[in-house]
Amino acid sequence: MSLHSNYAEIRDAVAKLCADYPGEYWRTLDDTNTYPTEFVRALTEAGFLSVLIPEEYGGAGLPIEAGCVILEEIQRSGCNGSACHAQMYTMGTLLKHGNEDQKQRYLPGIADGSLRLQAFGVTEPTSGTDTTRIRTRAVRDGDDYVINGQKVFISRTEHSDLMILLARTTPREECKKPSDGMSVFIVDMREAVGNGLTINPIKAMINHSTTELFFDNLRVPAANRIGEEGKGFKYILFSMNAERILIASECIGDARFFVERARDYAAEREVFGRPIGQNQGVQFPIARAYVELQAATLMVYHAAKMFDEGKPCGSEANMCKLFASEAAWHAADTCLQTHGGFGYTQEYDIERKFRETRLYQTAPISTNLILSHVGIHELGLPKSF
Ligand SMILES: Cc1cc2nc3c(=O)[nH]c(=O)nc-3n(C[C@H](O)[C@H](O)[C@H](O)COP(=O)(O)OP(=O)(O)OC[C@H]3O[C@@H](n4cnc5c(N)ncnc54)[C@H](O)[C@@H]3O)c2cc1C
Repeated sequence: MSLHSNYAEIRDAVAKLCADYPGEYWRTLDDTNTYPTEFVRALTEAGFLSVLIPEEYGGAGLPIEAGCVILEEIQRSGCNGSACHAQMYTMGTLLKHGNEDQKQRYLPGIADGSLRLQAFGVTEPTSGTDTTRIRTRAVRDGDDYVINGQKVFISRTEHSDLMILLARTTPREECKKPSDGMSVFIVDMREAVGNGLTINPIKAMINHSTTELFFDNLRVPAANRIGEEGKGFKYILFSMNAERILIASECIGDARFFVERARDYAAEREVFGRPIGQNQGVQFPIARAYVELQAATLMVYHAAKMFDEGKPCGSEANMCKLFASEAAWHAADTCLQTHGGFGYTQEYDIERKFRETRLYQTAPISTNLILSHVGIHELGLPKSF
């Protein structure tokens, strides 16, 4: 059904691995709010989470297109890649802007899975989407930075050895541009927790291992700063493009899951003496969801191609994330409606995936902010904020 045919062997291998983690596995985790440790371990051991790391550091050195195929297939299988997708792309900031010593220190471990870099700390309770107003401060003190502040919705921190953290090193008022004066650090969670970093889990609508973080005089070696002081915002934008393209591929995987489930149920379920899918009122919404899915697929792999060719693709990454997240949501709604009352029962997995796929209209960036980006940067309209 996918319009995309490259990396077919990887796609098949991922589907095979995911078959060992059926709906029952995810339902149990959901009930107990538990992290899918076994699933993540299996993906790690199979090498699927390190495909984007260059071969010289122990990865497969594949383009982002391959990462998209992996995440799409995970979601299509009914699994949830959000438990580990960050292990694929968070290292991008380190790879592109870190020094050789940092790369040698961390990338081989990330590639073989002995080091988990799955936490990306940007969002704060008071600044929200307005990242330039973050308040977490990192102040230089000898060979260290001392970090104070708070983050919210930082996912997988309890299942990560390292975190990429964005903090202010120069107050906003003292900078030429609001996006100046922020820096990026590699925080070693194994040393930080209990020594200035406190993690509190947040209970949410989905089983996402998201947390809030409190920094109280956490010391991070200056050697762990990535790139130049004050240029951190620019560095994380590169990683954010990768994140948006990869998450958009998860959305098309979700959309495929919903369309396939809706099609199968509509073909099987008989009411009034005929399959419900014979009624155009049931059939057409599924067909429409399929059309949107195919269009979203073209957008996602187009953005991935631009990223792989090293072309600027901020707008394409944003637009494909917006369109794919909406295609997934429309497919989810259609699938739920097609299943009637049974869509609400946990055993069909529709309600779980329905909740999970809704996230992508909010995170990692919300739809309005993407529309604002398109309005300003693609259409030349005035900025509203
Ligand atoms: C489960 C989960 C996991 C997450 N994981 C991470 C993570 O690992 N790391 C991380 O750093 N963050 C993470 N986030 C945070 C996520 O990126 C933010 O929630 C998201 O970017 C929106 O920010 P906010 O919640 O502060 O909303 P706000 O910025 O408060 O916005 C609220 C609403 O208002 C709209 N809005 C705000 N300003 C404007 C405007 N000027 N014009 C039009 N509309 C506007 C927004 O679009 C949004 O719909 C996660 C969030 C969730 C829910």
